[in-house]
Amino acid sequence: MNRARQGKVQYVDLEEMAMSLLADELMEFVAISTSMAKSFGFLQSRLKSEFPKDCRKCGKTYKTFEEFYFGTDEIVHGTVNYPTLGAEFYLHRNCKSPCESTLVVVFTDRRDDSPPGCKRRDIFESCLDKLQEKMPIQPTAAREFLLGLLIKKIHLLQKEKPKESVTLLAKPKPG
Ligand SMILES: [Zn+2]
Repeated sequence: MNRARQGKVQYVDLEEMAMSLLADELMEFVAISTSMAKSFGFLQSRLKSEFPKDCRKCGKTYKTFEEFYFGTDEIVHGTVNYPTLGAEFYLHRNCKSPCESTLVVVFTDRRDDSPPGCKRRDIFESCLDKLQEKMPIQPTAAREFLLGLLIKKIHLLQKEKPKESVTLLAKPKPG
């Protein structure tokens, strides 16, 4: 036994290992989330912010999410934060010119039984299995670790875009 050679496994190495182990799955998960988050119906069904909503700058009232969604301007290089499972996410849009103040709506992701929703959940579960099978990771930590990987993957895919000072995801719920 050569104990001296047993170096500490660094967290970053684990992350890199997991990233390449799950490369295809992470990509597919993010792609599904991205397309879901572009759907008005998906967003409306997960609305957390309350309406009516007033623009604090110009005083305009958006009576419903529909009015907000169709009555505001999309921000170039979009700031929709892609949902992962069970997390909050945000949509930023600008009030109409000349106001152009940025308004934020909050959503809560939840169980989704549409085909893409089921697919996304399956991918998540199979990633968890793979992680626990191939890597020295505690079952209790695996879920949070996986959510961290997904956030990182999203950041990597958004790399070319300008930095936005937005919170990508809410903290995953414990347990
Ligand atoms: Zn306004």
